Amino acid sequence: MTSLGSTATSEWSAPGRVNLIGEHTDYNDGFVFPFATPHRTHVALATRDDGRLRVISTFDAVPVEVAIADLDALFPTVDGQHAVPEWSTYPLGVAWALIQAAGADPTTLTGADLAFASNVPVGAGLSSSAAIEGATASALNELWNLGLDRVALAQVGRRAENEAVGAPTGIMDQMASMLGEPDAATFLDCRSLETDEVELGFAAAGLSLLVMDTNVKHAHSTGGYGERRASCEEGARVMGVPMLRDLSVGDLDRAAELLDDVTFRRVRHIVTENQRVLDTVRTLRDEGPRAIGSLLDASHASMRDDFEISVPELDLAADTAVAAGAIGARMTGGGFGGAAIALVETDAVETVTLAVEQAFADAGFTAPTIFPVTPSAGARRDG
Ligand code: ADP
Ligand code: MG
Repeated sequence: MTSLGSTATSEWSAPGRVNLIGEHTDYNDGFVFPFATPHRTHVALATRDDGRLRVISTFDAVPVEVAIADLDALFPTVDGQHAVPEWSTYPLGVAWALIQAAGADPTTLTGADLAFASNVPVGAGLSSSAAIEGATASALNELWNLGLDRVALAQVGRRAENEAVGAPTGIMDQMASMLGEPDAATFLDCRSLETDEVELGFAAAGLSLLVMDTNVKHAHSTGGYGERRASCEEGARVMGVPMLRDLSVGDLDRAAELLDDVTFRRVRHIVTENQRVLDTVRTLRDEGPRAIGSLLDASHASMRDDFEISVPELDLAADTAVAAGAIGARMTGGGFGGAAIALVETDAVETVTLAVEQAFADAGFTAPTIFPVTPSAGARRDG
């Protein structure tokens, strides 16, 4: 593979992710349970001898070039204003955050051309952002011989997204993209960053996991996302705990007394969702994947009614899938659009797909894009 006329010296890739369960719990120090998608972002790297980084993507034919020593002047982003095209703040922000994390002297680092191509759908809740971050972090970590481990690379990705892109997201996506393993999901404690790869066994049980992308872009997510974060912080403050992670289901009666109705429902979602993640992991281990359906359904209801981040298209996808025979279904990702998932018998994939497509047509909604995903490997060197 060639990039920008130079010959690639290495190739890397990192996946997107699907969150099986545990939504908006990451920034509350709670639990999440995502897996890596077979969809990946690939990067071909060629070294340069002039201390510069040049990035190009199939998203935008115009390359962006900066001196490594100048990254410090570009980031962190101030007031949401980017000095370079927004897409390039993902890979260049990762380069900047890597140098910070490793305490490296930028003037000593080898320059590179990085060419990106991806089949991770953008804005569908599959985290194309973590995929480009993970691919970049893995490639530059090795090029620059920084020796950061996978958890440190996930933290670099998050810092780039928070401070160079300017999106206030949690650590889940980057951890899933860095750590994913085939046929497993990453049980992640977002407080300690301890992880456990838990076997899913979908294929062995004759099950498939469908992504139902509503094609509703989460355009308003920034405002809604920030508001939900603020409600969670307010709930923790009034309840006198550092984070909502520190509450359990037994605290909800007291929360109902102390909190206004909206804040209480936001808190109840986080507290019960954390419990559902723990229950899902235990149920998978003890009883197998067929037994997790009701937990998926309960998670969706909680996001629809308590956290209020669903939209009619996501509700219709989840409800129709279950009515057509899915074992369980829920919206996945930050909400306000994006995708839902359904766990279905592989034999029933076609029936469920057709039922959801028909329901969308009947409701006058834009046609959804429905496809199965197989839990896959995390970031890696490909060549
Ligand atoms: P999501 O992560 O849900 O797909 P985000 O808004 O978090 O959505 O991230 C999408 C953004 O990430 C894109 O708009 C683009 O700026 C950047 N991005 C993702 N993948 C690529 C890529 N392969 N090339 C260039 N930019 C990318
Ligand atoms: Mg993202």
